Amino acid sequence: MEYRKNDRITLKIVDCGTDGEGIGKADGFTVFVKDAVIGDVVSVKIMKAKKNYGYGKLEQILEPSPYRVKPLCPSARQCGGCQLQEMSYDQQLVFKEKKIRGNLERIGGFTDIPMEPIIGMDDPWHYRNKAQFPVGRNKEGRLVTGFYAGRTHVIIENRDCAIGIPQNKEILDRVLSYMEKYHVEPYNETNGKGLIRHIFIRCGFYTGELMVCLIINGGSIPHQRELVDSLTEIPGMTSISLNINRKRSNVILGEEVRVLWGQSYITDKIGNISYQISPLSFFQVNPRQTVKLYSKALEYADLHGEETVWDLYCGIGTISLFLAQKAKFVRGVEIVPQAIEDARKNAELNGITNAEFYVGKAEEVLPEYYARYEQEQGEKAHADVIVVDPPRKGCDQALLDTIVKMQPERIVYVSCDSATLARDLRYLCDRGYELKKVCGADMFPQGVHVETVVRLQRKHI
Ligand code: SAH
Repeated sequence: MEYRKNDRITLKIVDCGTDGEGIGKADGFTVFVKDAVIGDVVSVKIMKAKKNYGYGKLEQILEPSPYRVKPLCPSARQCGGCQLQEMSYDQQLVFKEKKIRGNLERIGGFTDIPMEPIIGMDDPWHYRNKAQFPVGRNKEGRLVTGFYAGRTHVIIENRDCAIGIPQNKEILDRVLSYMEKYHVEPYNETNGKGLIRHIFIRCGFYTGELMVCLIINGGSIPHQRELVDSLTEIPGMTSISLNINRKRSNVILGEEVRVLWGQSYITDKIGNISYQISPLSFFQVNPRQTVKLYSKALEYADLHGEETVWDLYCGIGTISLFLAQKAKFVRGVEIVPQAIEDARKNAELNGITNAEFYVGKAEEVLPEYYARYEQEQGEKAHADVIVVDPPRKGCDQALLDTIVKMQPERIVYVSCDSATLARDLRYLCDRGYELKKVCGADMFPQGVHVETVVRLQRKHI
């Protein structure tokens, strides 16, 4: 049956889409409904209709889902940050595990998937160590900060985000009072005027160190001393800086950082390894889960001290340094040069000498290394374990081909998108590897994304 715009229909929500929207079906017609939860029976108005699917506006919840809960954050619906706050946490985990399994079955063609129970959080709130709050004026002209609404740049006021650290509120209160007192203007996206664009906050969960960085459309701020005096009253304050961004674009951070007070970085630990983190460095946002994710990767790598390991897409070397503690030698590859600088610095900071880092595309660096090795050594390069942690688009085929040639005993695949993961696993399993273990890790409670760690074993024929 076909539906049209403005039709009203009743649906049972049976699935959840990539943006957390509910998905229901009526006579083969699929409807995407924002804010509907799996298990809800809802009445919706069709806002947009294509041949087989459409988008519906939630008008009424006729029967609430047993998994529906009251969101902790009053702004949960409007805010673009969280998508699943209205679903119980247990059910979020069920949904995420199902998503991984579904993709491995449908896209990867796997059956009898060796899934381990998903790694969830005991307390799925206040887990983020980083937040970037835009500053602006609302319709009444009042100074506001919070988060952008989904898909727009309207600021939803919120200084106390339910997945952020509790110190956010104190910091934001102080920065906004400073702005009010000294008439410091927020940046205005429409005319490019004004000074303060974003307030960037980072916290070392292990060390308790706090970083505040104001992203500004200019070179300095007035009454800098007064702001610093106010912020340094907050326990843990370690680094206060400015980031210069004069560009009229949506990119939040500029390239230049000027320290106003304290250090240019904070330090945090994951497991035994310390990391120095500057405003510009990439660092996992959920440190309590990161240690579990990396421990799972380490378990799957099954290292005994004699192995040669590659960590492809290594970022600032977080996984590499974790693995280096148990391996003979680790080689990390990453495309962003600054990240590799951080990786080298972090290796030194921890006295790790058995790790080496290369800047470049994994799909170029590894094949080149392989070719050069054969030319120079007269034999094929071999690795015992290869770890990959690619961005959402997954691994390039040239990389997968080289991995297969290097015949590692084990491949550990850490993935933030189980669809491309499934595609890549199929490729590897058609070329001599066997799926041994799969484990989901929830790095983003209340959000739709889920990480997956996989262990592949080489088949000996
Ligand atoms: N393993 C790291 C980072 C994973 S995120 C950690 O856990 O912290 C994926 C990383 O891949 C990013 O740092 C990104 O810059 C990098 N990247 C993206 N495309 C790449 C490519 N073609 N080759 C190498 N690295 C790439």
